[in-house]
Amino acid sequence: MKSKVASFSVDHTTLDSGFYLRSQYTALGFYPIKSYDMRFKAPRAKEYLSPEAIHTIEHLMAHYLRERLGDKVVSFAPMGCKTGFYVVVKGWTPQRRVMEEVLRVCREQSDLKTQEDVPGLTVVQCGNPELYNIEESNAALKEYGALLEKLLSETK
Ligand SMILES: [Zn+2]
Repeated sequence: MKSKVASFSVDHTTLDSGFYLRSQYTALGFYPIKSYDMRFKAPRAKEYLSPEAIHTIEHLMAHYLRERLGDKVVSFAPMGCKTGFYVVVKGWTPQRRVMEEVLRVCREQSDLKTQEDVPGLTVVQCGNPELYNIEESNAALKEYGALLEKLLSETK
């Protein structure tokens, strides 16, 4: 079925893990809003992030990317297919800068020990604070951080 959803026109059978500009919008005729595909897992590998790891990473990235990029971050959200996340950024921040800040979060938040290390995992701040997995989140962030490092070094 034809669809206007940008990601539906991507061939997911050949898509590698990585960091991609997925769609770009313009607000008020000039102001850029970009949606990036943070693909942790190549779909064809059929290895998915667990719901617990996804939720943990969602909290970490939502919190720390806003510390780094401020209100440039419009939203951070998991993909329902459990292979990655979308980060939506407004303004003229270059893609490389976004990647560098994501890498920094991967590096700084991948040796966590307990639930208290994850911002917002409380009954007041979250709909399901029991859904987390520190070990899996640490491992996924280390793996994705290594990939980002490689991608950034290839495109200097
Ligand atoms: Zn939550």
